[in-house]
Amino acid sequence: MNRSAQWEDDSRADGVADVFARLFAGPADGVWAAPGRVNLIGEHTDYNDGFALPIALPRNTLLAARARTDGRLRLHSAQGEGGITELSVAALAPGAVTGWAAYPAGVVWALAEAGHTVGGADLHFDSTVPTGAGLSSSAALECVVAVAYDALYGLGLPGPELARIAQRAENAFAGVPCGIMDQMASICCTAEAALHLDARTPQDHRQVPLDLRGQGLGLLVIDTRVSHDLADGAYAALRAGCERAAALLGLPALRDVDAGELPKVLRALPAELVPLVRHVVTENARVTEAVSRLREGDAAALGPILTEGHASLRDDYRVSCPETDLAVSAALDAGALGARMTGGGFGGSVIALVEAGREDAVGGSVTAAFGAAGHRPPRLFPVTPAAGARRLAPERGTRRSAGSGGSEVRGLSR
Ligand code: ADP
Ligand code: MG
Repeated sequence: MNRSAQWEDDSRADGVADVFARLFAGPADGVWAAPGRVNLIGEHTDYNDGFALPIALPRNTLLAARARTDGRLRLHSAQGEGGITELSVAALAPGAVTGWAAYPAGVVWALAEAGHTVGGADLHFDSTVPTGAGLSSSAALECVVAVAYDALYGLGLPGPELARIAQRAENAFAGVPCGIMDQMASICCTAEAALHLDARTPQDHRQVPLDLRGQGLGLLVIDTRVSHDLADGAYAALRAGCERAAALLGLPALRDVDAGELPKVLRALPAELVPLVRHVVTENARVTEAVSRLREGDAAALGPILTEGHASLRDDYRVSCPETDLAVSAALDAGALGARMTGGGFGGSVIALVEAGREDAVGGSVTAAFGAAGHRPPRLFPVTPAAGARRLAPERGTRRSAGSGGSEVRGLSR
C-alpha cells in the first residue's frame, strides 16, 4: 500500500476538525474519511446486476461531524460554493436541495426514508478526491456521511446497506441514475485488495489481494480533465437499452445471459442492442478472468484484460472519446501492460498498469501526446489499493463529550 499517501489524508483529520470548530463554534464529535475509487474492470455492468473489480484510492473526502438535537442540518465544504447551507431534516425531499449539498443531504433523507431514526448534524467536508474526474468524488461525499451518521446515531448498519443508502441518495435525491459500484467501493474496499463485487448480491462481496508493489507493478490514474456534456443523457439511454434487451430475452438482467450462448442471443436481438449486450456479457467474463488471474498471484495478466475492456467500451458501448482513446494508446505505446478508460465515460480518467518505476515515463508520454493533440495536460496520480471508509478520530474505543451544542459520540460500530 502507498502508506504515505494514505496517511497524508489521515493526518489531515486534526486540521479538518479545527476548521469545523471555527465554523460551528465547538468541537466535532468525530472525523471520518471515505475514498474515491477506480474500477479495474467491469464497467457499465453494475446496473446489469453484473460484476466489477474496483479499488479505493488513497484520496479521501474527510468529514468532521457533530450530531444536533434540533433537526437542523448544516453543511459546509472546503470545495463547495458559498458558505454554510442550512436545511431542516424534516423538510428534506427529492428536488428540494440543489447543488453539491444534495449529495450529503440525500443520504440523511435516504436513511430516514429507510426507517432509521436520524436527526440533524453540523458537517464540514474537505476532500482530496478530484471532482468530476470519474473517480467518484460524489460517492466519497455520500459515503462519508453514511458512515458518520451510522456512528453518530448508533445505527450499526453493515457496509453494503450503507452503500445502498448512499446510492439511493444519488439516484433519487441528486437525480443521477448510477449503479451501486461506486458506493460499495468507497465503503467496502480494503487496503492492498480489489473488491470483487456482484451487484446482484453486494453483501457477498469478496476481497481479492492485490499487492501491486510486491509484484513489481504500478497503477497510474490519468485524469484527462475533460467531461463531455452528453454523459448524463447517454448514461440513461444505455441503461434503458440494456433493460430493454434483458426484457426481450426474457431475463431479469443481462447478467443472466449465458456467455456460451452469446452468438445465439445476439442473433435474437435488434441490431442496435447487439453491441450493448456484447459489451456487458464479455465485460462480466473479463471480471471473472481478472479475479482468477489475481487469485493466482499474476496481476500483470490484468494488462491485456484492461486493454480488451477499453476496446469493448470504445467500439461496442461507445462511451470513450478522443481524449480517453489517446491516453490509452499513448500509455500502451510507452510500454504500459494494459490501459482502459474507467468510470462512466465521455471523458474522465484512464488507468494504466505499468511496471513499477515506469509511472513517470508513461505519464510523460501521455502528457506529450496530449500536448501534440492540443489538449490540456492530464493530471497524473500513481495509486495503490487503499482502505475504504473509516473513522479517523477520535481513535476507536475512546469517547469524549462535545462542547456547546454537541452530543456524546454514540456507537463505535465502524
Ligand atoms: P465524480 O463522482 O466522478 O467526481 P460527479 O459529477 O458524479 O463526478 O460528482 C461531482 C460533484 O460532486 C461535484 O460537482 C460536487 O457537486 C459534488 N462534490 C464532490 N465532492 C465534493 C466536495 N468535497 N465538496 C463539495 N461538493 C463535492
Ligand atoms: Mg460521481
